[in-house]
Amino acid sequence: MTFEREREQMIADIESGVAFTRTMTGRNHLDPRVMKAMRLVPREDFVPTNMRGSAFRDGALPVGHGQTISQPYIVALMTDLLELTDTSIVLEIGTGTGYQAAILSQLARQVYSIERIAELARTAQRRLSDMGYQNVETRCSDGYLGWPEKAPFDGIIVTAAAPEVPPALLAQLKPGGRMVIPIGLPYSRQELVLVTRDLQGETDTRDLLGVAFVPMVEDT
Ligand code: SAH
Repeated sequence: MTFEREREQMIADIESGVAFTRTMTGRNHLDPRVMKAMRLVPREDFVPTNMRGSAFRDGALPVGHGQTISQPYIVALMTDLLELTDTSIVLEIGTGTGYQAAILSQLARQVYSIERIAELARTAQRRLSDMGYQNVETRCSDGYLGWPEKAPFDGIIVTAAAPEVPPALLAQLKPGGRMVIPIGLPYSRQELVLVTRDLQGETDTRDLLGVAFVPMVEDT
């Protein structure tokens, strides 16, 4: 099965999601490079085998360990908000299946991705290398601390909801950089937030739209 029709439906669903939320996000269309990456990366290969048939459904899907792979529209929107170029160094918190990291790898020079559940981190790293995504490096650690050895980053994307912007991540954002992060408590209202840092180092924070993410867990 090639999933051609499902893939086209997913693209159409992303486009209607963008149109529906344009007053909140300020985006009428996503960057064609982002849409190209969404077409190219085989989403069906990142979900559990028994869910390949629903891989393109316009929603999040369970992927084990109580975690989910995000809705395609949210993956596309968050990627677009980072405004990556082919020289960008990007940090992801919450590797999960590795799908979002694979999308980022099409648009940035180097992707670093952190996952706190060892088995998910291992599986994602193996999958990404087997599929030939060479510019993605993952590690198993606490994303609240970021990845200081690789900082600063042009883009930071957090794919789990935190109660506030983790200070270590803010410190690792380059002047001119952009961070996209869902902020809110588990199972209550969460906002997708865009943090930008200007060249003088000043940060600006903008709430974009309501979202539902699994919690970003703090290891103590
Ligand atoms: N981006 C993923 C989906 C993320 S689901 C994909 O494309 O498949 C959220 C992930 O964040 C989960 O795998 C969860 O284990 C991870 N996570 C939660 N808290 C974390 C933390 N403090 N550090 C790193 N990863 C974390």
